[in-house]
Amino acid sequence: MDVARAVDPPLNALTQDLRAAGLRATGPRLLVLRLLRERRGHHSADDLTAALAASGETLLRGSVYNVLGSLVDSGLVAVADAGPGRTLYEASTGWHHHFVCSECGSVLDVPCVVGAKPCLEAGLGDAEVTEAQVIFRGRCPSCATAAGR
Ligand SMILES: [Zn+2]
Ligand SMILES: [Zn+2]
Repeated sequence: MDVARAVDPPLNALTQDLRAAGLRATGPRLLVLRLLRERRGHHSADDLTAALAASGETLLRGSVYNVLGSLVDSGLVAVADAGPGRTLYEASTGWHHHFVCSECGSVLDVPCVVGAKPCLEAGLGDAEVTEAQVIFRGRCPSCATAAGR
């Protein structure tokens, strides 16, 4: 793969972030990280594989999974906890929660009022809580608007 052609302007920033996270800046890592940052939001490995193919970059699904694994381990990418279903990935933006629309399935970020783990107390005495994930469910703004008409 011709990485110089495939990944242009933000290449330096992406390369620097990968190196700062202790990873070599390989072509597949650059492609997947750039895609997640450009698109924002939450994407499955299949979505990412298809999006890369549509832009002319053929990465096998297995490679996409491998790349996502190393990006998650390094903290550059996070697994979005949005309940059962496909695993969704997003470029890391800090600790936050998710709202899942029960009508259209869209997943929206919900800022955490505390901003760091753990943001809720479990009330279990000496238990050591490392994180508390809250999943908000209901109708997203566009579905709620559509339903109100
Ligand atoms: Zn919706
Ligand atoms: Zn998110």
